Amino acid sequence: KRWFFQKNILVLGLAKSGLAAAKTLKQLGANVTVNEAKNLQGSVEEEELRQWNITLVSGGHPLHLVDDTLDYIVKNPGIRYDNPIVKIAVEKKLPVVTEIELADIIGEGDILAITGSNGKTTTTTLIYEMLQKSGVPSHLAGNIGNVACEVAENTKKDDVMVTEVSSFQLKGTEEFHPRTSVLLNIFDAHLDYHGGRADYEYSKGKIFKNMKKEDSAIYNAEDPVVTKLAHQSFASLVPFSVHGHTTDGAYVKDDVLYFRGEEIITVEEAALPGKHNQENMLAAIAAAIIHGANKSEIRKVLMDFNGIEHRLQFVGSLHGRKVYNDSKATNILSTQKAIEAFTNPVVLLAGGLDRGNEFDELIPSLKNVKAAVFYGETKDKLEQAGKSAGITKIKKTNTLDEAVHHAYFFTEEDDVLLLSPACASWDQFKTFEERGAAFLQAVEKIKLEVKSDL
Ligand code: ADP
Repeated sequence: KRWFFQKNILVLGLAKSGLAAAKTLKQLGANVTVNEAKNLQGSVEEEELRQWNITLVSGGHPLHLVDDTLDYIVKNPGIRYDNPIVKIAVEKKLPVVTEIELADIIGEGDILAITGSNGKTTTTTLIYEMLQKSGVPSHLAGNIGNVACEVAENTKKDDVMVTEVSSFQLKGTEEFHPRTSVLLNIFDAHLDYHGGRADYEYSKGKIFKNMKKEDSAIYNAEDPVVTKLAHQSFASLVPFSVHGHTTDGAYVKDDVLYFRGEEIITVEEAALPGKHNQENMLAAIAAAIIHGANKSEIRKVLMDFNGIEHRLQFVGSLHGRKVYNDSKATNILSTQKAIEAFTNPVVLLAGGLDRGNEFDELIPSLKNVKAAVFYGETKDKLEQAGKSAGITKIKKTNTLDEAVHHAYFFTEEDDVLLLSPACASWDQFKTFEERGAAFLQAVEKIKLEVKSDL
């Protein structure tokens, strides 16, 4: 912590995390300047920083901020490395780190970090709930909790800070050292930011980079790239496998989830559907047990956990139909996973912003769909894919509201009514959250309508 005393530090980007980092550094005695591209003159943020005696330069990234007196840069993960000010700092060999590195330096507790292209939020939440219910002193930070460095400030020795970390955050780390790391999977994502697959993989692998023998690297043994990255670490390896390819760590065998030979829960008993969620559950079981959670609390969490809002979330039964909100599924891969998660017949609602892509890759999964209603800009393209997959009951509508209405009448008792759009929401909604909320409203409306028909 002493390290920051009287150091000159530039915080690049004033999002929630930039503000938290700037305040934390100020408290540690640093001279802090915040630089934000947006013009913040006259804003509440400007006033707040003034009260903290933190210098604010806003409305651009003037290059003179990277002068010879500067010691350290804390960069918002979203700011790219081709930004001129970042380029100059890197050329000058100045440390350019993200706020998660700062959190690690200042926190007394242990970090349990989770990354992967998909599944981070689900796995992070599961682990946190398992630790909390078991009475293990734990804190949630990152995307779904508070900003990591604010949380870290309040951790005591032996506390666990559970945090999801993105590849953008990991790229900006040097000494980041979690005691336990989870790497779920690596798909092609964010390749423009990373300038290619190699840097994306390297950045994800940094979650293991500084680990030691007494630390645990939990990794998906079925993903060859993930496995390779884990094996480059000095940590003790804890593999997981949904196909029972390993019996070392966590695995599924004959529809039962095990950890090191001990039965934890059956697939049937667990609330989360789908193979992909079995991966998330295995990783969570391993991480939670390593940090002292107990089996009966772990079981309870897995039995009660209906998913995170808008992420293949079970939202309830509608006259015997099981309704799932997967509004977060803004691409084909997510919708594939959602459809494949169910054994009961699925009636699918999909559609949204047209990004110019086709939906051919969705055809194999659409074969498992009993009926579909497509809406929004992509409805014609999706209909094409649906027909190629042999779906006989297809309807097209303009709005989600109408779509839900038609979809309901395609369902029978025990069917799954699934919103998993495979498209961004921006043709009709501001955010995927708003889309999910509109879906739930439409479902509520049907509940009343159908009741009054009876
Ligand atoms: P993230 O935080 O990484 O975005 P989430 O837990 O929010 O991940 O899940 C987002 C979506 O990603 C889910 O709705 C599901 O479609 C998909 N998904 C979740 N877990 C996995 C996994 N282990 N493998 C592949 N896809 C997954």
